[in-house]
Amino acid sequence: MFKNSNIIIGIMILLHSLVGSAQQITINSLRYWTAPDHTRMVFDVTDTVPHQIFLLDNPARLVIDFSDTKLKKQLSQPPNNHPLFSRVRSAQRNKKDLRVVVDLKIGVTPKSFLLNPNKTYGHRLVVDLFAKDSTAVALSRKKENIQKRVTKTLKKQIRDIIIAIDAGHGGEDSGARGAAGTQEKKVVFDISRKLAALINKKPGMKAVMVRKGDYYIKLRKRMEIARAAKADLFVSIHADAFKNSKVKGASVFTVSNHGASSEAARWLADHENSADLVGGVKLADKEDMLATVLMDLSQTATKEASRNVAGNILKNFRNIGSLHKRSVQKAGFMVLKSPDIPSILVETAFISNPTEERKLRSGKHQQKMARAIFKGVVSYFEQYAPTNTYFALNAKKRHIISRGETLSGIAVHYGVSMRAIKTENALAGNHIRVGQVLKIPRG
Ligand SMILES: [Zn+2]
Repeated sequence: MFKNSNIIIGIMILLHSLVGSAQQITINSLRYWTAPDHTRMVFDVTDTVPHQIFLLDNPARLVIDFSDTKLKKQLSQPPNNHPLFSRVRSAQRNKKDLRVVVDLKIGVTPKSFLLNPNKTYGHRLVVDLFAKDSTAVALSRKKENIQKRVTKTLKKQIRDIIIAIDAGHGGEDSGARGAAGTQEKKVVFDISRKLAALINKKPGMKAVMVRKGDYYIKLRKRMEIARAAKADLFVSIHADAFKNSKVKGASVFTVSNHGASSEAARWLADHENSADLVGGVKLADKEDMLATVLMDLSQTATKEASRNVAGNILKNFRNIGSLHKRSVQKAGFMVLKSPDIPSILVETAFISNPTEERKLRSGKHQQKMARAIFKGVVSYFEQYAPTNTYFALNAKKRHIISRGETLSGIAVHYGVSMRAIKTENALAGNHIRVGQVLKIPRG
């Protein structure tokens, strides 16, 4: 509290006289006035007095230097039990200046000003001292601390939804390559970074980049990174390639137990899984099989969530360009096999198609693709918000209409206006039917 009090906090030097050799100023007396929030010291002086006020610490002191000033008599002392002062000392410095030192019990903030003579008093120097630790200050500090603690607790309880973004390939493994030389690892990394930026801007969401640069990470390690980050969703981003350069469009994959669901998907599964060979290490076959069996057992719920997210993303891709497959595809991609983390793989476009290769290189189009994925992810979590997340806290309630209910009755029940419910559900009139599901906006 006293740390900065060595700094001179108030300097007020007044020229007390323009007439060459003026008479030395005299301090006649000192009076104290103690108010609940401050104490006033009033020095009765013979003229406007040039002075300087500053604080010193260890121990806490207030120093008032008076120029060309003397005391008429010893300064009166504050009462023994005064909340701010222990005593007041004075000493003549050189032949004409005077230093007054006020020993303090607690930290203060001083303020001083001069008063001109009135009917009762002559010239005065007023020094007001405000206790830094008065009850009011202490109370407000206490309140602040409680508020901080509450915010901290809330923050701890409400967690972010974590999205692991896996930019495919990397390092030695450049992935597929376009006719113009575009490398899959490069463009998918760019899209991933744009997606991460969108996610990190969204309140209640946080992105974790699985690979943060141009290097290779083994497929299993990618899943481990997502798990270590406590990811709620794993999104692997790739660009497709095919022998036929006319093939185009995006597709979204979830894992399948029984391998690829189509010729092309099987080809792709090979293509993506073969990356581990490029990385240099082939996993032991037996270990792999056991792991797969165990994972499959606990994968049912995860798969359902994965399908749901994938569907949402596919919908958004339809809006920005052609789809390669109109439905969510299944393939045995290794990175999608986390038993407990919903996982999807997005083939953003065909790098083997010259038009799409160009689009994959365009920052503007990369942003479009990132946004399509982002919107799909957000709409999924808006529908299925994990508990203790910002999304869950802000989730819109749903109401299923039962017999005899009216729109006005429902509005009163949820404490929202009828107009808000109608807007939220795009209702033209007041007609509702039994079994209809209404989204209830937050009141
Ligand atoms: Zn790929």
